[in-house]
Amino acid sequence: MYELNKKISNLKPYKAIEGNYKIRLDANESCFNLDETMLEEVSKAVSKVAFNRYPDWSAKEPIKAFANLYDLDENLITAGNGSDELISIIESCFLETGDTIVTLSNDFSMYAFYSSLYETNVEIFQKEQDLTINVDKLIEFCIEKDARGLIFSNPCNPTSLGLVKEDVRKLLKSLPNCLIILDEAYMDFWKNQSMLGEIKDYDNCIILKTCSKALGLASIRMGFAIASEKITNALKSVKSPYNTDSVSQAIVTTVLSDRFYVDIHTNQIIENLQGFYLDILKLQEKYPNVLEKVYKSVTNFVFIKTSYDETIFNKMFEHSIAIRRFNGYIRINTGTKFENQEVLNALDEIISEL
Ligand SMILES: *Cc1c(COP(=O)(O)O)cnc(C)c1O
Repeated sequence: MYELNKKISNLKPYKAIEGNYKIRLDANESCFNLDETMLEEVSKAVSKVAFNRYPDWSAKEPIKAFANLYDLDENLITAGNGSDELISIIESCFLETGDTIVTLSNDFSMYAFYSSLYETNVEIFQKEQDLTINVDKLIEFCIEKDARGLIFSNPCNPTSLGLVKEDVRKLLKSLPNCLIILDEAYMDFWKNQSMLGEIKDYDNCIILKTCSKALGLASIRMGFAIASEKITNALKSVKSPYNTDSVSQAIVTTVLSDRFYVDIHTNQIIENLQGFYLDILKLQEKYPNVLEKVYKSVTNFVFIKTSYDETIFNKMFEHSIAIRRFNGYIRINTGTKFENQEVLNALDEIISEL
């Protein structure tokens, strides 16, 4: 009888929330679909795709559009099938069996998941009680564990908190032999803290970006890794040749080439989040015993400490609203202003009945 090996025998397929809910604020997606003008542009671009041909292995056009948008050198960019694929490639290829990679808690769960598949040693660094990162302690931890890799999201999913540039620089300089992977999936929502502009100063750093959040393209899969030429060459050599398809490439190129569109889209999300965050704070004033802490968000979602996470999560479904739950916390990304109001009304009602 064929037996699955130990590391995969108990795994279950990744399950996002299923079902039809009126309001979906559980996956940190953008709440805005492409507008009609952009949809037309995208359709035109897709109609020009040579469907019988393999895609451009190097994803030259989307990389060019991405480089222009963020003012980067094209030669330092690799495209991936979502940043998820890039995380998987990096963790499998830049570390060897038995090497140690450091992840943080709380942080994005995929980091430790992929590492566990690649038979590397995962060491988890605990954040402070208030979920901030003490950089000096983290540096000490990485040295003590002889880490070959360190990966974390900045700003962080799920805590919604950010680590300022100065602290990130200190990390990069203090751990010269460690590959530091900065996942800046949410950095578009936090101005002037990205390390993208400084990537040339570091040979031990990979920055990850995604099209799934501020760029509003979670349906197609594309993410980017930005790193030194040496690392970029290695990444391009280990990725599967046709990892991003022509349709996605055409769509990403079209949307990212329109800086005006991207800026308006991002700023609208930031504005909605700020209103939502302030309203959540007001709700917290009303129910301080239930909403124990609301973290200062620099992302497109709010993270709330509550021991009623399970009840709130389940009751929100009754209002046809999907949010995300963690042990002792809930996470809700901003929707449209209308959706946010619905969420606030539902929360108010649910909490008042607890
Ligand atoms: C959503 C998210 C991503 C994006 O992943 P894709 O595969 O590009 O959709 C990456 N990192 C973090 C921390 C995220 O929350």
